[in-house]
Amino acid sequence: MTFSLHGLAVSAGIAIGRAHLVSHATLEVAQFVMRERDVPDEVLRFEKALETVRIELEAVRGEASSSGALAELASFVDIHVMILSDPLLAEVPKLAIRERRCNAEWALVQQMEELVGHFDTIDDAYLRERRHDIVQVVERVLKVLTGQPRKISRRGKSGEKDEGELIIVAHDLSPADTIQFKNLKIGGFVTDLGGATSHTAIVARSLAIPAVVGLHHARALVRDNDLLIIDGRRGVLIVGPDARVLEEYRLRKTELELERSKLKRLKSAKSEMLDGEEVALLANIELPQDVVQVKQVDAAGIGLFRTEFLFMNRDDLPSEDEQYEAYRAVAKAMGHRPVTIRTLDIGADKQARALRDTGERQEPNPALGLRAIRYCLADPLLFLRQLRAILRASQHGRMHILIPMLAHVFEIDQTLSMIELAKMQLRNERIKFDENVAVGGMIEIPAAALMLGPFLKRLSFLSIGTNDLIQYTLAIDRTDEAVSHLYDPLHPAVLRLIAQTIQAGARAEIPVAVCGEMAGDPSLTHLLLGMGLRQFSMHPAQILEVKQQVVMADAEQLTAKVSRILRCDEPEKIREMMERL
Ligand code: PEP
Ligand code: MG
Repeated sequence: MTFSLHGLAVSAGIAIGRAHLVSHATLEVAQFVMRERDVPDEVLRFEKALETVRIELEAVRGEASSSGALAELASFVDIHVMILSDPLLAEVPKLAIRERRCNAEWALVQQMEELVGHFDTIDDAYLRERRHDIVQVVERVLKVLTGQPRKISRRGKSGEKDEGELIIVAHDLSPADTIQFKNLKIGGFVTDLGGATSHTAIVARSLAIPAVVGLHHARALVRDNDLLIIDGRRGVLIVGPDARVLEEYRLRKTELELERSKLKRLKSAKSEMLDGEEVALLANIELPQDVVQVKQVDAAGIGLFRTEFLFMNRDDLPSEDEQYEAYRAVAKAMGHRPVTIRTLDIGADKQARALRDTGERQEPNPALGLRAIRYCLADPLLFLRQLRAILRASQHGRMHILIPMLAHVFEIDQTLSMIELAKMQLRNERIKFDENVAVGGMIEIPAAALMLGPFLKRLSFLSIGTNDLIQYTLAIDRTDEAVSHLYDPLHPAVLRLIAQTIQAGARAEIPVAVCGEMAGDPSLTHLLLGMGLRQFSMHPAQILEVKQQVVMADAEQLTAKVSRILRCDEPEKIREMMERL
């Protein structure tokens, strides 16, 4: 049966592949009783899954040991490899499959619960912690098991060509889940929940994989291994397409790939407008390894390093040294080009296990809660550790520090004092750093955009975070698909706040960048240029498309047209004028 579901287009492109259902409750597996003659195959399936995970872990270990920044990870992977080959996990479930004729997933989870039960009674905190490692290893094996078809007949209609891409279908994915796709070959993903500028969507765009969110019932309607097409530009998921539709999409996919490869020619072109004025196109990154992609498009520097991703998907916090290594790796790789490190923007949809609320207090409204700079100022030791790591790394490149979510002047003053304290400590310890490291602030709360004077006096540069600026100006939760139709970058109030900030920066001779998703949207490049913006920061995957717009831009004409747009209060008229930009 063919059917299609419509959701929010968050990352363009076309993916054609097989569904892989995932759930947060990976461990809630169903129990089946096997026929006697199927038991040997089930044991084999289990053994193969263990072997697949062993190969996966070896690969992760190889990567980790060859990267200075990830060296610590290698020893954790070693522990996982040991757990995987322990007979308690590798052999006992096989006995259960044979004796109880149960499915491999069930046998494995039963044994895991048995083992974890013993760990809970151990006094030693370190050993007790190993329980998480067991659970993580079991989760990995389960992912392989549930991703493997139990019967050949489930691999689609007979005679149909098998599609290689893996498409993740989930009820919801956190940014922490999605960032893990960087290490996997995922064709695309779809979710029931989520907003277009949620961090999950942002990570999808950075991976340049097609994604659709807000599909409501995809997780319930799609079955494992169904053939799927994601149309990332239109926000459509097609389930079980017939041969004609499949052919059509294969053709479109090839065309898109061709367009992308043509864009590559722009890599060496100068990023300047028709009058020769230069426009800096910088990159947003989440992890040090993203620098590879940044170099592929020859970005002018890093305009936003979302450091909170270093704190996710782990049970502990990164030490000062580990953070230093990560920041240094980026600084060194970028050479003389600027690297803007944003201090921890944890909270709201970006959660870290080691920092998670212990359950004593459920945040009533996380987007308005203890997030970003508020969190850091409430935990000065954590903040100081990060500032020291950034400062130490500053001697290896051109480092800038960027402070997120500023609303109050005292937050800037307290942060600058913390930076002074970190510098003083380093001087006392005779550790080198760049004494003149620039400190800038993000403008992403309307209160900040409306009272820029004290910001411009205290900070060396500003960066407009349009994702949050829109969220807080329009009172729209950026992660909630139910209000996503109200999330409007072209709302006149939003446009005025952005334009005012750019103009105030120009008057005070303080550089202003935009690092929210608006900067990477080629349909908005001319609008932002017309407002006077000359620094854009976006995911590397978007840079060449934006450059294509820059090289066609006539600055004088755009300034005149955009000033008319900024005087307009009527959304419909604004859209009409945008068409003519
Ligand atoms: C923004 O809010 O626009 C921004 C760049 O920060 P983040 O998306 O990480 O909240
Ligand atoms: Mg933000």
